[in-house]
Amino acid sequence: MRRRLAAGNWKMNGTAAALTELKALAGAFPSASVDVLICPPATLLHRAAEVAGDTGITVGGQDCHAATSGAHTGDISADMLADAGASAVILGHSERRTDHAEQNEDVRAKARAAMDAGLTTIICVGESLEQREAANTLDIIGGQMSGSIPDQSTGENLIVAYEPIWAIGTGKVPTLDEIGEVHDFIRSRLERRFGEGVGRSVRLLYGGSVKPSNAADIFGVSNVDGALVGGASLKAQDFSGIIDALERV
Ligand code: PEP
Repeated sequence: MRRRLAAGNWKMNGTAAALTELKALAGAFPSASVDVLICPPATLLHRAAEVAGDTGITVGGQDCHAATSGAHTGDISADMLADAGASAVILGHSERRTDHAEQNEDVRAKARAAMDAGLTTIICVGESLEQREAANTLDIIGGQMSGSIPDQSTGENLIVAYEPIWAIGTGKVPTLDEIGEVHDFIRSRLERRFGEGVGRSVRLLYGGSVKPSNAADIFGVSNVDGALVGGASLKAQDFSGIIDALERV
């Protein structure tokens, strides 16, 4: 039985004032059936962990370095995230793959470091519009999975987020059939590589313009165990609407 998860990615948004949103969200908890994770900017991680306290909400990072420490100005190690209160980290987000030219091998090395540090890793995969239109979606997703997901993955330390690049922050969403096709494919690839036990226990999130208004439909799709949410996670009211939809699945 996989626990459902609503994960919020605040990206490079928020100073201390944004913690009022987290406080508002924390006021509505705990949820018996849904895990809630907020990934604020690294500057807010420690304070966010304190605000989340023992509400059941957990906090996570948005990236980490593959090394545990050293001469890497501006970078943050997985151990540092854990030390600041993180229990998870998003890796291989398409914005990192684009803005920082991260390749599958980089994501895999970061994921190994994160798993070694005891963090749950949310590894993002997703196709561009051009790749979808060329009917290459499943090839792209399969390649990203085999390149980015480490061998040490388990149902506890790995979550896979399917995020079509063209759906992120655009208000465009794939059809429910398209989401289902990719999620079923990801599930079968995981089962083939890690065996049925592990493959069936890894949670799969959909990400890309999830809002309170479309969440219930998306959560009804097979092998969708929750969502990775960008814009709609910044406001407690919007994110609560998504959590509510997930609770009702
Ligand atoms: C994201 O960037 O992970 C994301 C899903 O963003 P949005 O919800 O804003 O499309």
